[in-house]
Amino acid sequence: MPVAALSLGGNQRDVKDAFRHALRRLAATRGVMVRAQSTLWRTPPWGKTDQPDFLNMATLVETILSPRELLDLCQTIERERGRSRSVRWGPRTLDIDIVAFGDEVIGEADLVVPHPRATERAFVLAPLAEIAGELPINGRRVDEWLARVDLAGARSIGPLDA
Ligand code: ADP
Ligand code: MG
Repeated sequence: MPVAALSLGGNQRDVKDAFRHALRRLAATRGVMVRAQSTLWRTPPWGKTDQPDFLNMATLVETILSPRELLDLCQTIERERGRSRSVRWGPRTLDIDIVAFGDEVIGEADLVVPHPRATERAFVLAPLAEIAGELPINGRRVDEWLARVDLAGARSIGPLDA
């Protein structure tokens, strides 16, 4: 069964609660098994910097869903936590991105896998490296990509308590 790497992020309202909800929902979905979860990371805002720090984490799921079905599930879970898409890179309660899906390469209008910006973002790579450092993405391992990015300000704040 393919393993997908997901990146979770948010900086509005109760993000830890949103992450707990997301992990519960993934685990409760038929055909999706949560195999690993990273610690929680606190990271400075990226792109648009006049907003609160983000919390980020990564999870590995084994799934019989197709990549598109997994994207639909992630977007449903985002909406359940009131995700609005008003500002690009702006504040959000819950963002779930598919970083990788097995070794699939997808280039559709609304689904690009591996996620095109994942390999340059410390807030995606640092949590993911805890659980999948050896995972190849676009020709390099996650821990190799991590060594190439600026970690400034990103720090693990420990496990997401249940
Ligand atoms: P970002 O995550 O880049 O900050 P959004 O979460 O608002 O921005 O993403 C908007 C769109 O990105 C979604 O509507 C989705 O269709 C598209 N998208 C493309 N590839 C992916 C992927 N690998 N994972 C999640 N969303 C993706
Ligand atoms: Mg997203």
